[in-house]
Amino acid sequence: MVRQYLQIKSQVPDTILFFRMGDFYEMFFEDALVASKVLDIALTSRDKNKEGGVPLCGIPYHACDQYLAKLIRENYRVAICEQVEDPKTTRAIVKREIVRIVTPGLPVGLESILEADNIFIASLYPINGIMGLAFLDILTGDLKLFSDRSEELVLDHLQVHQPREILVSRQLLMNGWPWAGKLKKMALVTPFDLTDIQDFERLDDLFKAVTRPGGETPKALSEVECGTLRFLLAYLVWTKNDHIEHVKSLQVTLRRPYLRIDDFTRRNLEIFEPLNGKSKRATLLSVFDETCTPMGKRLMREWLRYPLQEVEEINRRLDAVEVLRSRGGQRGRLRGILGKMSDLERLVGRVTSERANARDLVQLKDSLAFLPTLHEALKVFDVPLIREIRDRLDPMDELVDRLSTTLVDAPPISILEGGMIRKGVSDELDELWKIRASGKNWMIKLEAQEQKRTGISSLKIRYNRVFGYYIEVTKSNLHLVPEDYQRRQTLVNAERFITPQLKEMEEKVLSAEERIQKLEYSLFVSLREEVKGHTEKIQEIAASLAVLDVLLSLGEIAQRYRYSRPIVMKDSRLWIKQGRHPVVEQINLQESFVPNDTELDSEQNQIMLITGPNMAGKSTYIRQVALIALMAHVGSFVPAEEVHMGIIDQIFTRVGASDNLAMGLSTFMVEMQETATILANSTVKSLIVLDEIGRGTSTFDGLSIAWAIVEYLHDRYKEGGTKTLFATHYHELTDLARLKPRVHNWNVAVKEWNDEIIFLRRLARGGMNRSYGIQVARLAGLPQSVIKRAKEILFNLEKGELTVSGVPTISVSSHEERPRPAFVQRELFAARHSPVEEAIRKISIDQITPLEALNLLHRFQELLKKKEA
Ligand code: ADP
Repeated sequence: MVRQYLQIKSQVPDTILFFRMGDFYEMFFEDALVASKVLDIALTSRDKNKEGGVPLCGIPYHACDQYLAKLIRENYRVAICEQVEDPKTTRAIVKREIVRIVTPGLPVGLESILEADNIFIASLYPINGIMGLAFLDILTGDLKLFSDRSEELVLDHLQVHQPREILVSRQLLMNGWPWAGKLKKMALVTPFDLTDIQDFERLDDLFKAVTRPGGETPKALSEVECGTLRFLLAYLVWTKNDHIEHVKSLQVTLRRPYLRIDDFTRRNLEIFEPLNGKSKRATLLSVFDETCTPMGKRLMREWLRYPLQEVEEINRRLDAVEVLRSRGGQRGRLRGILGKMSDLERLVGRVTSERANARDLVQLKDSLAFLPTLHEALKVFDVPLIREIRDRLDPMDELVDRLSTTLVDAPPISILEGGMIRKGVSDELDELWKIRASGKNWMIKLEAQEQKRTGISSLKIRYNRVFGYYIEVTKSNLHLVPEDYQRRQTLVNAERFITPQLKEMEEKVLSAEERIQKLEYSLFVSLREEVKGHTEKIQEIAASLAVLDVLLSLGEIAQRYRYSRPIVMKDSRLWIKQGRHPVVEQINLQESFVPNDTELDSEQNQIMLITGPNMAGKSTYIRQVALIALMAHVGSFVPAEEVHMGIIDQIFTRVGASDNLAMGLSTFMVEMQETATILANSTVKSLIVLDEIGRGTSTFDGLSIAWAIVEYLHDRYKEGGTKTLFATHYHELTDLARLKPRVHNWNVAVKEWNDEIIFLRRLARGGMNRSYGIQVARLAGLPQSVIKRAKEILFNLEKGELTVSGVPTISVSSHEERPRPAFVQRELFAARHSPVEEAIRKISIDQITPLEALNLLHRFQELLKKKEA
């Protein structure tokens, strides 16, 4: 057996082998060491007592899905090896074969355990400097193909899809391909070659199937694209995941232009994932996603991945959102119906891969049965996009009828044990049921009859799997047993008998049972085949429902959060009246959100230079502008009173180095590299959002770099330029507005009050000529002595007092000895704290007891009384 194991294991290196033995999957050697750790199960040994026994662990076969899912989440591939002949029929070792390989990118069979999001596998396939890229979600059948010379664009698609597994040629990986490192950070990288498979005929079949009419034909595909697709399909053959009738005819959607958002910007704007340490709710997706179906949930992500570039397309979506927003009652009803529907896309996947059971088909039927109601309810929404959705909602009456007249309402999970088919579907089945039922009746009658004949009132007719039907008589009644009973089994308290008559009837009942199971199975399978024939139609319906669901979700949030419809046009404007940050306004409930205006365009208002102290709200503001622009391109209403905007081709955001520590990008070098990329790739139609760029180095360096970048962005095109928001605390930059006409100063207003500053969160025209850093430091609780000293140093710096060697004088003189008069006048924020305030400041709240607190309170009162007296 070990020889057989090793032979099979050699076919799947780097893959954990589930080796079926009876009711268990066993793992051996290295696999057992790994799996026992990941799955947290006991590790034992085959020959425990011998030196070097084989390490071993196992899991029960019926619970294998949970374990599989866990291994896959941890980036392992698992090959499932079954016994492929009946152990009873052979005296040698049972034949075993790998029946399929489950991988992080191909988690077939685990759909009910895994989340509803798309799970993609990607294949990368370069030829002559062109990179081919394919994505497949095997559970839903979504297939996309793309190729380009631009590595950056390919990388962009990869990052946005977040595949779980990336297929790459083994050769490339061995030759030190520079991408390898990058890819490994992204997902499990699987080395693979076309020559790993033998069955090229099967590969050709698959290729023909996915390039069937309806989508792109092979002719429209380039050599690289064909290669990439074949590479991916070959992996399906190799892993025996080749039931792919549900894979949608290929759409090369990735070729369409879309609003590009690079990976950094996507993370920085917290579109899908929150930045480190924040709650899940801190993302745009979580504000957006009010979808009711898994299909809608997936599509919402897709819309956010690929915002539109055509004004007409955007307006079509906006028209639909508008009517859905305005009719809250109808919208609620529609969402209620959608909420009851199942994941049609994954159901179809289960049907085509022949894994669907009767429950799946009942779910399918129940979902489809809502279509006529939906169709009717959509009538009132008379806009093109919703009309189109409605037209695609074929009610599928016949299929629904067929399913509901064939299957019972609540069938069992197994398809091998009957109980699925309704009465009246098949005469033969009805007849068999009758035989079974009459047999059972006969047994009941026999029991009464035998009780009477023998005078044993406790005599029972029972059934078990080993003995079939038998008569049971308790020990105390054994003397009453008649001659014709044949003893079969003796128990402690009873004996079991059969009679020829009983066995004859048993034969009938059991053979009926067996035939019922077989017949039901075959009826079910042919029904499933019939459903398979409707694959494309159901997928079309599912796709339309997904669009409807997303539009309803956008209508819902538009109304709930008082969004307005953006006016999208063909010019360069990005004008926002009273805009809000869609996420901050939802999650920062301590402070009511202060809306602000934006005035950007290429011609006159190209660069908004925003100054203000730390914590004033600069970052929030500039991100809010980017998010509003993005939302409008998705076709959503926006958090603002009014928005006029033209199409943007790409949004770039960068944050000065020290803000990036959490992302692991701590060096100034990276900050500059990324800024260089922005300068190189942005166009007149882009939107650039720069937050404290230049901060990662010394003040003078940083200031000079920031200055030069703004100048460059302003001057590089003759007329007009890239719309830019530049937040900075270098108030010196505000001088730029006097030199460059398209640069305008803005500041996030603060108010000085007594000793403190108050954040107004309001954007005002004009620059801010001081940074209030010391006031913010005070707010943050730095000790009084430090604040005081900082003010003195600042004073000297501002006066430009330097020693002969150019060092500010403050570093050599002690502040105790300094002459003070001029300073006293400059000191706007002198400490005016009373002794009580000082004392309160010094308390460490988490270290004192309640009693001590009371005592302190008493003392403060005494002090105040004294002061007033
Ligand atoms: P800065 O970038 O100027 O240092 P932030 O943008 O990080 O400041 O804002 C600081 C805090 O102020 C944020 O946590 C946010 O919750 C709050 N804030 C910012 N803008 C507003 C606003 N317009 N209305 C209400 N709160 C805001």
